[in-house]
Amino acid sequence: MSKTWRDGAAVVATLTFDVDAEAPVLAHGRGHAAHASTMSHQAYGPDVGVPRILDLLDDLGVPATFFVPGWVAESRPGLAAGIVERGHEVAHHSYSHRPPTTLPPGAEDADFARAMDVFAAQGIEISGHRAANWEATARTAELVAEYGLLYDSSLMGDDRPYRVSTARGPVTELPVHWSLDDWEQYAFLPAPHVGSIIESPRKVLEMWTDELDAMAEYGCLFNLTNHPFLSGRPSRAVALRRLIEHGLARGDVRFLRCRDVARQSNDDPALPTRQPLDTSNRLDAFPESTPDPAAGD
Ligand code: ZN
Repeated sequence: MSKTWRDGAAVVATLTFDVDAEAPVLAHGRGHAAHASTMSHQAYGPDVGVPRILDLLDDLGVPATFFVPGWVAESRPGLAAGIVERGHEVAHHSYSHRPPTTLPPGAEDADFARAMDVFAAQGIEISGHRAANWEATARTAELVAEYGLLYDSSLMGDDRPYRVSTARGPVTELPVHWSLDDWEQYAFLPAPHVGSIIESPRKVLEMWTDELDAMAEYGCLFNLTNHPFLSGRPSRAVALRRLIEHGLARGDVRFLRCRDVARQSNDDPALPTRQPLDTSNRLDAFPESTPDPAAGD
């Protein structure tokens, strides 16, 4: 019998940390660099959150994946290498954290390549990619295939790994969802305004524990996205520890790095393949909408 992507576990858990630092704020405008309070709020991620999270993962003996923008790795030499030294994976999270959907033609390619160059110069092996803000274009998965990476982790078409077919070959997708993202729970920043939520970590722990248990029933990928500047704060880090302890106590949860799940997925002949991501060739029959529903966003 051939192996499945879960390799006998009820649920596979990938703990992922997006080490965005100042990049998503500067993506709103370089002028925010002069806002010392905002910059310090973001710097807390790599300076305080990452070391705390690395110690927590060491204590519990579980591996994780850290998605790092190229600019962050470049402007903080040693950050990516320090994460790899602790046994974790560093993955591609754009260069500048500008969402691909907002970039002019060609700029996504250039941004993607620039991050690859930074990691190559630092000797960091890159196996996977996550789009800034999860705002991938139809081109994004193609780029992942073009650079020979194993996986992407930006889309929401399933709660188990699946293949995405692109013009440059198939890519394994490790899907995400906002319900497993700490941004929706803890992001509070007035300038620029990127969020106004400070939820109770007890509520968050309950929600994520319920999802982990349910995903064990359905045989899913529990792909958790945390940001060190958010989940590195004390009561949130303790809630994260409790969540991992719950998973370890179950005995049927396997904690893996994303690249390991991607490898197991690539060996699974039953992994479903989804249609190409560009749906514009199916738009002919679709009526023009007035007013544009996106205009109110
Ligand atoms: Zn990010």
